[in-house]
Amino acid sequence: MAEVLVLAEHSQAGEVKKVTCELLTAARRLGSPSVVWTGPGVEAGRGRLGEFGAQKVYVAGSGEFAEHPVAPAAELLAQLVGEKSPAAVLVAATTEGKEIAGRLAVKTGSGVLTDAVNVTAGPDGAPVAEQPNFGGAITVHSVVKAGTPIIAVRPNAISAEPSPGAAAIEPVTFAASDAAKSAKVTGHVTAAKGSRPDLTEARIVVSGGRGTGSEDGFKIIEKLADALGAAVGASRAVTDAGWYPHAFQVGQTGKTVSPQLYVAVGISGAIQHRAGMQTSKTILAINKDPEAPIFEIADYGIVGDLFTVIPQLLDETAKHKD
Ligand SMILES: Cc1cc2nc3c(=O)[nH]c(=O)nc-3n(C[C@H](O)[C@H](O)[C@H](O)COP(=O)(O)OP(=O)(O)OC[C@H]3O[C@@H](n4cnc5c(N)ncnc54)[C@H](O)[C@@H]3O)c2cc1C
Repeated sequence: MAEVLVLAEHSQAGEVKKVTCELLTAARRLGSPSVVWTGPGVEAGRGRLGEFGAQKVYVAGSGEFAEHPVAPAAELLAQLVGEKSPAAVLVAATTEGKEIAGRLAVKTGSGVLTDAVNVTAGPDGAPVAEQPNFGGAITVHSVVKAGTPIIAVRPNAISAEPSPGAAAIEPVTFAASDAAKSAKVTGHVTAAKGSRPDLTEARIVVSGGRGTGSEDGFKIIEKLADALGAAVGASRAVTDAGWYPHAFQVGQTGKTVSPQLYVAVGISGAIQHRAGMQTSKTILAINKDPEAPIFEIADYGIVGDLFTVIPQLLDETAKHKD
């Protein structure tokens, strides 16, 4: 069976990110998954990779991947594509993953598909990627016609399903070129992180819009998010007004999320906002305007004032906590 390379997303300590398990699940549909692990930590991560079907783990364990972002990883993948002739390369459609995918495509003369929300094997076994386009208005099924298919898959789009694999470690001899090392990370600032899940990885996202009225009004979004164990998101109207940091903006010029449940509160549903959340599995909209466009894509809608609806939701949630 042809190998499918999966670029692992992981912490320096070896904690494997959920999206890597999702990529492994997709890779199993196409062939035999081989993880590509950059930097240290593989000893800690190997068990989880095996749990989700990795047969091999190619390890380039040097520290240069942490010091020099993106370019060395693209070079490593290009080397492995040359050596292993995989059926496909899967990466996470994160900011970094998409840049690696683009660079790899140029290096290997291959086609690249980004922001896939599903990957399946076509009738000839070649990978078919499902991609939402034009802000989610159109869904296309795409195949790569040149070189090795390189597909960037959105976190949370595919459910990770375990299936045991050998996860046999194979060290890789690799040295990044000087050009790949021309950008250097000179320091790290750890973002103050509360107990909330990461916005792009969360199973539930509660997002607030201009309807919250003010920075103070937006606090009700955090309350609902905490009651549901969710991440907080915001529309651009909110981040532009300075009511919540830009890092939490969802949409065309913000983050793309695909949670199991997206709760849009006081958000009208502009096309640019939809572009970042339209592929959520279930969408609940709370808006006082029954004509708000968000209701066109919502699975469930509550027409009402958010400052009346949310306290009721909080009461109900509290009742079901025990
Ligand atoms: C190039 C470009 C890129 C953009 N990128 C993004 C992006 O990444 N993300 C993004 O979000 N936007 C983006 N926008 C902006 C986008 O077009 C909208 O302006 C923005 O999404 C509107 O935010 P909103 O829904 O919060 O506000 P509004 O459109 O003002 O909607 C507020 C909603 O709240 C409802 N409401 C008001 N009060 C209450 C209440 N008390 N209870 C319940 N409901 C209430 C209203 O009925 C209304 O539907 C972009 C625009 C451009 C031009």
